[in-house]
Amino acid sequence: MMARSNRGTAVVAGGAGFVGSHLCDYLIAEGYRVVCVDSLLTSTLDNLNRVLRDARFSFIEHDVIKPLPQGLAADLVFNLACAASPPLYQLDPVHTMMTNVVGTNNLLSFAAEQGARFLQASTSEIYGNPLVHPQPESYAGNVNPTGPRACYDEGKRAAETLCFDYIRQGVADVRVARIFNTYGPRLRASDGRVVSNMISQALAGEPLTIYGDGSQTRSFCYVDDLIDGFMKLIRHELPLPHAVNLGNPVELKIADIASVIRRMTASGSEIVFCPLPVDDPCRRRPDIRLAREILGWQPKVELEEGLQRTIDWFAAAMHPSVDEHYSIGKHRPAVRFGSV
Ligand code: NAD
Ligand code: UDP
Repeated sequence: MMARSNRGTAVVAGGAGFVGSHLCDYLIAEGYRVVCVDSLLTSTLDNLNRVLRDARFSFIEHDVIKPLPQGLAADLVFNLACAASPPLYQLDPVHTMMTNVVGTNNLLSFAAEQGARFLQASTSEIYGNPLVHPQPESYAGNVNPTGPRACYDEGKRAAETLCFDYIRQGVADVRVARIFNTYGPRLRASDGRVVSNMISQALAGEPLTIYGDGSQTRSFCYVDDLIDGFMKLIRHELPLPHAVNLGNPVELKIADIASVIRRMTASGSEIVFCPLPVDDPCRRRPDIRLAREILGWQPKVELEEGLQRTIDWFAAAMHPSVDEHYSIGKHRPAVRFGSV
């Protein structure tokens, strides 16, 4: 049996992933009981080392496309289950789409039954290749529905549709966070995202890969700031009938992030230019006025401080066993931990 907690129980779907594992750490530190539900599609249990043996923590290996296991209870439900790296979510696009649609519906109906508050990890990909800059929540986006990114972008859009239909039907208290590019420790070295690629390349003395000419922009938020935003959003007492952007408004060209990482790692790596992936958005910067006004939230961690923490983590983690462990679906536990 899990230990009792007067903070209540949080179910974290996708809790073994990069962001989810930081959320699990935070919730346990704050006194919640946590049930992490994850298929380990793009993660390993190593991310949960800090909490795995805590009596208030429980792990269930489960794909959210399937009905949730019987006997689960929750006061809070966080839905982070979905591969977030473009090369990874494109490996099995139908599964990505189904995770977002069927999986989100399974979790929403569970939250509705439980009377639990629900937080959806949505994304700036809702805005596609945006024609409005920076992007406010009111912008409906410019998404290619048939391209290789659509399984993720349209999947997340459909998931938001479900969230707001549950709200309109008055059956669940749902909060939707539109997350912009987030980085930090526990990004996987071979994950394929820009910060993890470039830090691991720089530390290994390999060429840093810039896709396209590097003039496309992103805005990078440190993971602790995002978790702070999640908690402010889910603890907000009034219903929120709209999504809220959570991201750092400091916008950088990809060529510039490569230079910063090269300088901070004192790397002699050369920079190589590779083809730009199809439908790669040109610009991305959050308008966070809503989060500031409603939640009193804004990012606190400066880019170089966050990058230094991330570089330090990669430097410590980059030994041969890291890549041995990294393979989708490879590092599966033999046992199911905890009880529900
Ligand atoms: P991640 O790939 O590290 O974590 C995702 C987790 O979900 C993994 O543990 C994976 O095994 C699990 N998962 C995937 N499909 C599943 C399924 N069908 N059933 C159960 N578990 C499943 O990614 P992340 O960066 O931690 O992202 C977490 C969430 O935040 C995702 O929903 C992502 O779309 C969203 N998000 C992240 C970012 C970012 O920059 N990190 C930006 C926007 C949105
Ligand atoms: N990118 C890059 N080199 C890499 C990985 C990514 O130049 O090694 C680019 C990618 O084309 C995109 C940006 O960096 O323009 C952010 O990519 P990421 O996959 O991290 O996030 P997303 O495209 O989902 O915002």
